[in-house]
Amino acid sequence: MKDIIIDKPTVTQKNINKKVINKFNASLSQWWGPYNIFKPLHHINLTRFNYIIEHSNGLFGKKVLDVGCGGGILSESMAQAGAKVIGLDISTSALEAAKLHALNQGLNIYYTQETVKNHAINHINYYDVITCMEVLEHVSDPISIIYACSTMIKINGSVFFSTLNRTFKSWLLIIIGAEYFLRLIPKGTHDFNKFITPSELLKWIDSTILEEQNITGLHYNPFTNKCTLIHNIDINYILHTQRK
Ligand code: SAH
Repeated sequence: MKDIIIDKPTVTQKNINKKVINKFNASLSQWWGPYNIFKPLHHINLTRFNYIIEHSNGLFGKKVLDVGCGGGILSESMAQAGAKVIGLDISTSALEAAKLHALNQGLNIYYTQETVKNHAINHINYYDVITCMEVLEHVSDPISIIYACSTMIKINGSVFFSTLNRTFKSWLLIIIGAEYFLRLIPKGTHDFNKFITPSELLKWIDSTILEEQNITGLHYNPFTNKCTLIHNIDINYILHTQRK
């Protein structure tokens, strides 16, 4: 039996918003099964995973932290690629789903329920790779998460962020299209005001020891479920940074 452990919550911080936790407190079948409410995350996963593999020169044997791992969609892919993955989240149900699913898959992933800030205290200079995908647009203090990530990464290590740009196009496609019209994701999942422009994200990155390496757009077609990397960063985008 593999040791998949969930730590006791040590969650007190201004980034912890009860409403946000409730949005992601979904069961195993909602994260992975027939009642999946996070389908777009599954459909974009291979594309972002390939991007991470390419830009981190492979994950085999590396210590990886998946910040805001949710049900473990990306954590599992990275563990399958041979990474030693720690998945961190604040949502109890998401972590339960992640734990159960990893167990079913025979994957050895360590899941922890705590804030990034708290985790950083004992993990300074510790990780080879950190991923923080589709999380920053849900928190009230994204800078503190970025800063905590920058303290935990080793020299030459890579930190990846993905988020949603605050443009008219993303409001139309994500809020109106995906949430209200197509019902791809539950209504109210996103708050448009929390979307982050690339220049805001880069300004925050510049205030840390991280350096921008590459930025790319992610295009998801909800009708074909195809996902591709594109130059346009008007909607969803991934930023690769490195500590030099
Ligand atoms: N990163 C995963 C899940 C994205 S959904 C993926 O891309 O597949 C957003 C996740 O961020 C949810 O699981 C939510 O519980 C988590 N989250 C929100 N605020 C957080 C915070 N302050 N610290 C850690 N995780 C947080």
